[in-house]
Amino acid sequence: MIQAVRGTKDILPGEIGAWQTLESTFRRIAGQFGFHELRTPVFEHTELFSRGIGETTDIVGKEMYTFLDQGQTSMTLRPEATASIVRAVIENTLVEKNPLLRLWYMGAMFRQERPQKGRLRQFHQFDAEILGSAQPEADAESIMLAHTILRALGLTAFELRLNSLGNAASRLRYREALQSYFRPHISGMSDDSKNRLEKNPLRILDSKHAEDAPIVKGAPILTDYLDDDSQNYFERVQKLLTALEIPYIADDRLVRGLDYYSHTAFEFVTTRLGSQNAIGGGGRYDGLFEQIGGKPTPGIGFAFGIERLLLLLDEEQKTPSTETVCDLYVIALDDDSSALGMKLAQTLRQEGFTAITDALRRSFKAQMRDADRTKARFVAIIGEAERTKGVAILKNMATSEQHEVALQDTNSLLQAVRRTI
Ligand code: AMP
Repeated sequence: MIQAVRGTKDILPGEIGAWQTLESTFRRIAGQFGFHELRTPVFEHTELFSRGIGETTDIVGKEMYTFLDQGQTSMTLRPEATASIVRAVIENTLVEKNPLLRLWYMGAMFRQERPQKGRLRQFHQFDAEILGSAQPEADAESIMLAHTILRALGLTAFELRLNSLGNAASRLRYREALQSYFRPHISGMSDDSKNRLEKNPLRILDSKHAEDAPIVKGAPILTDYLDDDSQNYFERVQKLLTALEIPYIADDRLVRGLDYYSHTAFEFVTTRLGSQNAIGGGGRYDGLFEQIGGKPTPGIGFAFGIERLLLLLDEEQKTPSTETVCDLYVIALDDDSSALGMKLAQTLRQEGFTAITDALRRSFKAQMRDADRTKARFVAIIGEAERTKGVAILKNMATSEQHEVALQDTNSLLQAVRRTI
């Protein structure tokens, strides 16, 4: 028996309703904020991610699904959406056509991480990006969109953590301060941290190794290295959030996993999902366009992990109800009634109702049981007697009332079904 790949999941019919509710909530609220959907391919040239996300990140260093295609070109299944969106925007000259782009994206991402609850190898994200603005209003709007979506889903068990990574000059000064701080301790630290010391010391702050924890605790704090411009920018973002009544916690240890962030970094976290506590996160990435070969263009965006949102909805007992409605279940009792029954079901569908027929040729009793199971509002029964009379018996499943309706007279059938909606 061939099984699904470890870290991937089938989304079964019983679960899909909750997914669809989330998806339509994203779509609706992003639309209300003036965002437009953009869809990019599932795989890209590997270079897009190695340049865009950064060689020293965990994603590029060890988590990407990379393969050579038939022409020996290195391809990668996208591990995140932002680099692809930025590539698409540059390639299609979208910023040239509109200096402020609001885009959203939804789809599967691929990372070869160790699977556990809330951590998959194929997972799904909702992403929203604002491209073209270097103003704090864009940061606040991005965070407000994320916050509005979480609230619209009914979630409350989350916190917004906020930090500033400052501009490039501030980060450079901080980087040097971190290196000087870690250097005397590095021999007792993990191999990961040793590797990161020269290449990307900020990443050491994210270390999950127990031996690193006490040293990381005493490390210099980024906020102390922000220059005036960076400090001002951060204050303006915070002022806007306060005015918009979006609660946040300033977290000077928040650096996030990707290389391309500058200024605002944020994460929505929960205490309800164990170690996979981030339900979404984002930040400003003013250097990304140039890294990918475009003209300097500021951008800010965030991504939610859809599986984690669903886990949190479950924890908070807010999973959207996913009952589907069946308006009419047509029971045909013999060969010649089948076609009549299928036509009757089709008449209802054309009027916007949901109608199903039995494709198993089950007995009357078994079809009635199936109609109950599907919670059909009405059942129409056509057997030999009804067929010869040109009628169907229409039964209201809630009241058990039943009467005959003429098969030719679709109007009165539709009226009967419609009346009780
Ligand atoms: P990132 O692109 O790493 O900032 O991730 C954004 C969000 O995607 C996270 O906050 C998670 O909710 C979700 N996410 C990231 N990696 C995974 C994964 N391996 N499995 C499930 N969700 C993930």
